[in-house]
Amino acid sequence: MAFFQSFGAAGQVTGSCHLLEINDTKILIDCGMFQGEDKDRNEEPFGFDPASIDFLLVTHAHLDHIGRIPLLVKQGFKGEILCTRATFAISRLMLHNAGGLQESTPRPLYTLADVDPALSLFKPYIQYGEPVKLEEGIEVVFQNAGHILGSATLKLTFKEQEGEKSVIFSGDIGQEHRIITSAITPYDSADYLFLESTYGDRMHKNLNISIMEFKTYIEDALRAGSTVLIPSFALERTQEVLYILRQLSLQGKLQGIPVFLDAPLAINVTRTFLNYPSLFSDEINEMMRANINPFDFEELVNTESKDASSRIAGTPGAKIIIAGSGMCEGGRVTHHLLRYLGDENALIVFVGYQVPSTLGYRILHNKKGVEIEGTYVPKNAVVKSVDGFSAHADQDDMLRWVEAIKGLRHIYLIHGDKERQKQLQNVLRSLLHTKVHLTKMGRTITL
Ligand SMILES: [Zn+2]
Repeated sequence: MAFFQSFGAAGQVTGSCHLLEINDTKILIDCGMFQGEDKDRNEEPFGFDPASIDFLLVTHAHLDHIGRIPLLVKQGFKGEILCTRATFAISRLMLHNAGGLQESTPRPLYTLADVDPALSLFKPYIQYGEPVKLEEGIEVVFQNAGHILGSATLKLTFKEQEGEKSVIFSGDIGQEHRIITSAITPYDSADYLFLESTYGDRMHKNLNISIMEFKTYIEDALRAGSTVLIPSFALERTQEVLYILRQLSLQGKLQGIPVFLDAPLAINVTRTFLNYPSLFSDEINEMMRANINPFDFEELVNTESKDASSRIAGTPGAKIIIAGSGMCEGGRVTHHLLRYLGDENALIVFVGYQVPSTLGYRILHNKKGVEIEGTYVPKNAVVKSVDGFSAHADQDDMLRWVEAIKGLRHIYLIHGDKERQKQLQNVLRSLLHTKVHLTKMGRTITL
């Protein structure tokens, strides 16, 4: 008998943390941080005893899937943390950064000193497609999720008296076509599926159209001598933006126009990406094998120090600034917004989803202006948003991936808000004639 319980990302999109218990072996899948309006939940107990967990399987290095690992270890977890090499390398950067940010909050969940003990429990030897035995009769395979570099879906197979059972955890899965990462790997069969449903109710705008839109906004602004500010997530989105800007550079459209990557975490993540050429799309893999850095170009300036960052505003003429954080909740983008949101000769381009209540969301939707760190700034800059860069599958991508999995007895929807999940539930039921359920925090499901 196996039992499943969700302790995060059940009816919401952050805080991923799911417990699978198979014959006395306790396996946790992800241990993420709650973000946005759910962030107070981080201070609540996990709902299980961290010391009782044998394995933590990590799908990918986004903070909403790894952000509470140092807390888990601080509270007694001593098991093995399994993930791909790329996920470990990126997690190291993300968790150090998170530890620093936690220290600056009034009630830190953990400090920087808690991060290295957590990292020491990682066993990053997982290769896509190679089964790993966890215990006698329990095996796991990680496959490429096509979401971000190193991301994985998991398939656990376990033996019971009545025979073998299998369960797939989608983690976060990517669009079929991504800009830099290689595409998701399909599965052919399983008994149970726990499926993310972030965008289960919608279709993304075509990726190529979004790339063209993005290039047009930038070219028009640069021709007018404007400053272009791109609030960007450090992980994957920044590298996608750099890859597209590199194309503009090669076409001679950035001549003499500096592109500042003003985000220390993003600079480090970009360097780390270069160590994993085989995980990229064929096109990028080929470039890297020919010793071409797909994220570098003549006009790119990495500004690591605070001094260099503060000097950017003094650079005359047209320029591009890529700065974190992606939703404008802290980070160096703040001082650029204070300078450029009120400037009618500036363009601000959002390249990722903005969660309601974040500063990014308010800048995008407020007509007149916003308050930034206690200062009211009028919205005189041109503000645009490009929709199609999402790292998440849309409904069509999901259906294609799920349809290929034969023999599914039950599908459980995780990682999505309830309204979107209900729509996906209806579509899956009518298409696959399978039992499709929503999950609830803490409720036990018997597999
Ligand atoms: Zn993710």
